[in-house]
Amino acid sequence: MLNIILFGPPGAGKGTQSAKLIDKYNLTHIATGDLFRMHLGEGTPLGLKAKEYMNEGLLVPDSIVIGMVEEKIATTPDPKGFIFDGFPRTVAQAEALDSMMSRNGMSINGMIALEVPDQELKVRIAERGKTSGRVDDQDPAKIEKRIQVYKDETLPVANYYDKKGKFVSINGVGSIEDIFFRIIHEIDKLS
Ligand code: AMP
Repeated sequence: MLNIILFGPPGAGKGTQSAKLIDKYNLTHIATGDLFRMHLGEGTPLGLKAKEYMNEGLLVPDSIVIGMVEEKIATTPDPKGFIFDGFPRTVAQAEALDSMMSRNGMSINGMIALEVPDQELKVRIAERGKTSGRVDDQDPAKIEKRIQVYKDETLPVANYYDKKGKFVSINGVGSIEDIFFRIIHEIDKLS
């Protein structure tokens, strides 16, 4: 079973690459941002709560995120493996993920980080904002805020997995195919 975390700042290409990896390795995609947007679209209480944070570029509180991921794992029938995208985003989430994986007899094989310079992230997110309909992709101040939140709250998660010998970073600039091959190369070393 292959369980990987695709890591990186907003706009790094995690969603694009996840879609390709799911096909290749037959994995279940757990993208917390997508799950929140799905709840939001359905107008669930969880979605309405998350919206307050998402629209400001802030992190949704850990307890909400962790509960949602736990439910998704528990309700996936016969998983072949998971790809986590946009999760964990805090060390508390990483600890919770490790314990929920081990409770289910699984573990994280590795975290792959996509490295992209800030300036490129801003251009990519603004471009995505033209079609994504996402409030948080359209306002330069909110884009800036999300990158800052990533540096302050999420980057320590890289260190958390590095200490376990489960962290690798790759260059996230280039064509979608080139980046995909860099990721596959790292995954094939893990399994
Ligand atoms: P994303 O689609 O991954 O860029 O996530 C969009 C927004 O959803 C983020 O800016 C956060 O407000 C929220 N979000 C997504 N994943 C998480 C997470 N793991 N922890 C906290 N907030 C999250």
